[in-house]
Amino acid sequence: MRILLVEDEKGFAEALCTSLKTEHYVVDWAADGEEGLDLALSDVYDAIILDIMLPKMNGLEILSEIRKQSISTPVIMLTAKSELNDKITGLDTGADDYLTKPFHREELFARLRALTRRQTTDSATPSEIAFGDIYMLQGGNELYCRKNGNTMTLNGKEFQLMEYLLRNGGQIVSREQIIEKVWGYDTEAEYNNVEVYISFLRKKLTFLKAETSIQTVRKLGYRLV
Ligand code: CA
Repeated sequence: MRILLVEDEKGFAEALCTSLKTEHYVVDWAADGEEGLDLALSDVYDAIILDIMLPKMNGLEILSEIRKQSISTPVIMLTAKSELNDKITGLDTGADDYLTKPFHREELFARLRALTRRQTTDSATPSEIAFGDIYMLQGGNELYCRKNGNTMTLNGKEFQLMEYLLRNGGQIVSREQIIEKVWGYDTEAEYNNVEVYISFLRKKLTFLKAETSIQTVRKLGYRLV
């Protein structure tokens, strides 16, 4: 189990690292907000222990940024007694749990066990990306219609394009954004590639008899409606 600890109080952090290591956790320690965010975004952890008051960038900003990047690693916020509002904001921003300082290390271990167990169970069932009456399962290449149970297999780019549209949940995405996300930066792909794949997807939605469709928004791009 790998843990990221973001905490600026050196003595407290070192003591916490030592006790986590005795419980056989592998710990990376970041002493300020920026370093914490860098590590959270660039490495894979089983859980993140995040202090709120930090130099350079506070814990809530870090949390909001990592959730924005769709990183769902469980986060335990560390708060001081007086920071009730921070607890509420933290949970709203996507923290999974919080601990009020000072706390017993046994309590932290128990929370960590609960969170990492919950995550293992969750990842056994792939999560769903849905809009309107259609959905896909993460890691799968099928598109489903919830209303009638119909299924279509999507191929390569169709799959990536549909996933991108679904993840944007009805917001307009431009042709440039689609090319960048589906074909990548260094690409020969042109606008008509996008149009071709949009038309493939429209055919599949018709086959599915789905109510959800792809709308062309003049000069702006596409969205699910
Ligand atoms: Ca602090």
